[in-house]
Amino acid sequence: MALFLILIVDHHWGSFALPRRLSCLIFQRMRLIPIHIQIIGNEIALKWNDEKESYLHFEKLRRACPCAGCGGEPDVMGHVIRPQVTYTPASFVLKSYQIIGGYALQPVWQDGHSSGLYSFDFLRRLTLGDVPA
Ligand SMILES: [Zn+2]
Repeated sequence: MALFLILIVDHHWGSFALPRRLSCLIFQRMRLIPIHIQIIGNEIALKWNDEKESYLHFEKLRRACPCAGCGGEPDVMGHVIRPQVTYTPASFVLKSYQIIGGYALQPVWQDGHSSGLYSFDFLRRLTLGDVPA
């Protein structure tokens, strides 16, 4: 309701400039999607729809694999026990990738692993270092 009222007032005054706090709020809610994905050496380069660019090393990407086999699944109490994952050099070689349903990236690794679905939101947080690798 507050948002609606402010927009009306701004429109009436002939200005579309939003108060600073409000534009931050809208920015945070904007859905971030990569508009360009490129493999450069052993990194994946992502250009986002907010013009930001980020780079993710294959090893960091693989170690953050969110699938149940790598990241674990919560038990009935909600505790997540991370399974012991064995990596080989081929685990950190990206063979190919697919975009799934317009919301996630699914890497196919040289060792055959491909069950990790990295949502764009998760990918973005990974590149910012918010998610422990
Ligand atoms: Zn995995």
